[in-house]
Amino acid sequence: MHYVSLSCFLVSFTFLLQALAFTEDNTGSDPAQLKTVAEKADGGWIINGSKRFITHSGICDHMFIFTKTGDNITAFLVESKNRGYIVGKRKSFVHTKALDNGDVYFEDYFAPDDHIIGKVGQGFEILLRTEAIGKIAFSSIFVGVGKRAIDLSINYAKTRTHRGIPIGHKFQMTQVKLANMMTNLNAMSAYLYQVCAKVDRGEDIFMDAAALKLLVASDIKEITYDAMEIHGAYGLSEEYDVANLYRIAIIAQVVMGSIDIQRVITAKGMLGNE
Ligand SMILES: Cc1cc2nc3c(=O)[nH]c(=O)nc-3n(C[C@H](O)[C@H](O)[C@H](O)COP(=O)(O)OP(=O)(O)OC[C@H]3O[C@@H](n4cnc5c(N)ncnc54)[C@H](O)[C@@H]3O)c2cc1C
Repeated sequence: MHYVSLSCFLVSFTFLLQALAFTEDNTGSDPAQLKTVAEKADGGWIINGSKRFITHSGICDHMFIFTKTGDNITAFLVESKNRGYIVGKRKSFVHTKALDNGDVYFEDYFAPDDHIIGKVGQGFEILLRTEAIGKIAFSSIFVGVGKRAIDLSINYAKTRTHRGIPIGHKFQMTQVKLANMMTNLNAMSAYLYQVCAKVDRGEDIFMDAAALKLLVASDIKEITYDAMEIHGAYGLSEEYDVANLYRIAIIAQVVMGSIDIQRVITAKGMLGNE
């Protein structure tokens, strides 16, 4: 399977009931620590191991899985209906109860040779390219989340009154928060468009995708936190959307790679090779 078209396919896995499985119980960042292995057999590969925190692993039709093949990492397509694909414990998260996510086990799962994605040993490179596009798509969600947090905050600041005056007009602290929220959102949005334009031009976006995710994860946390503060006690109430927006913002810190890893990728991109 050609892995440029695969990248586009993987990014849309949320809608097509696909899943992508890299993370294991002991690592989500370091390929050297992967324990799931694929061993050569007649006409294909036998996969053994387990993956953790995998979105849609309990309901997907297909999964793209990254395994050790000797010292390398190789990507495979696996089918959930086949023998040896076993769905494990489901996870529950603070940001949503509606996500299928959890463990999956591979017990002597047979993957034919033509289910290798790219070539043997190309898995990590494929993962990095796929995640780069994924980080950009993911960032666009948070521009929307930020816009919603600001709209709600403006509305609240104009309608909530203190001694008869709307808090947005009365309190400079509220105004400072609104102004910060708006400048943060515009920075996120402008960088997102800049990186998307690079994708359209076919330029290398590996470092920018990481830096974009870094910016978005930090700014969306501030925007949604400020929105909660502007709403006072209502900001913590389940009846108002703002608490939910803050919970969603938290996932930007981890999903598609931790923030520290984005820092590492960005700095390495800036410094170049030794
Ligand atoms: C809601 C949700 C959905 C998810 N969906 C999927 C999915 O579909 N598929 C999938 O494969 N995974 C998925 N994950 C897992 C996610 O990708 C990992 O949790 C993430 O990559 C971090 O891995 P980890 O939790 O193992 O942390 P670790 O890699 O163990 O890192 C722990 C800490 O060490 C730091 N650290 C690690 N390495 C370095 C380094 N080299 N330099 C500096 N600091 C470092 C990290 O920043 C972090 O703070 C999902 C997670 C969540 C919460």
